Amino acid sequence: MNKTGVLYAGKAKTVHTTEDPELLVLEFRNDTSAFDGEKIEQLERKGQVNNEFNAFIMQALQQAGINTHFVKALSPTESLVRNMKMIPVECVVRNRAAGSLVRRLGVAEGEILDPPVFEFFLKDDARHDPMINESHIATFGWATAAEVTRMKELTLAVNAVLKKLFADGGLLLVDYKLEFGRFNGEILLGDEFSPDGCRLWDAQTLEKMDKDRFRQDLGHVIESYEEVGRRIGVQFS
Ligand code: UDP
Repeated sequence: MNKTGVLYAGKAKTVHTTEDPELLVLEFRNDTSAFDGEKIEQLERKGQVNNEFNAFIMQALQQAGINTHFVKALSPTESLVRNMKMIPVECVVRNRAAGSLVRRLGVAEGEILDPPVFEFFLKDDARHDPMINESHIATFGWATAAEVTRMKELTLAVNAVLKKLFADGGLLLVDYKLEFGRFNGEILLGDEFSPDGCRLWDAQTLEKMDKDRFRQDLGHVIESYEEVGRRIGVQFS
């Protein structure tokens, strides 16, 4: 599938158009950002690691019956996906307290959250992705009530699949962020699932193995992503 132009260049991925208006190429770059783009660095091999990690997870989700935009990997750093109309909302599920939940509510990092916490954020870096609720989504028309219900249902279905997949690799899925889009009247999981958009801790030592290593300058960022991948069965090229 040939790329025909750049549709959008995000913080870590570039979206290319193709000859088929229903298909896009996602290019995973080495750029790594945190704090809404305030901290940016190039990490060698990150594009490849995240592309191959994401392809593995998207395929595992599809096998579990969760429809995603993913079609196939095209190269070490590129994947073919369906061209969706993205919903400008981030869906976050938390199985343990970390990050902004700890800052907001003062709970202890690592506290088990049962049932898991579900949160919506607006995709708006300039406003630091403010937390929103279903009422904001309805009033401002970001998604319909049926789409909100579907996004929550799919986000929680992903939790069941991925908590087990990571647990089998000796990892705790602490929290994660998903984005959805519309394609032919259906809601599909979009964007990516990689250690850039979730928190994963070693189940024994509670060592952080995700983007917090970059946010907190803990070092060995990509080595940890690869270790997570290896533990769950990703075969890096
Ligand atoms: N997250 C993300 N993109 C964002 C905000 C959050 O991928 O723009 C992920 C983040 O990596 C974590 C989860 O969503 O796995 C919850 O993030 P949190 O609200 O704790 O925010 P943070 O501490 O990253 O500011």
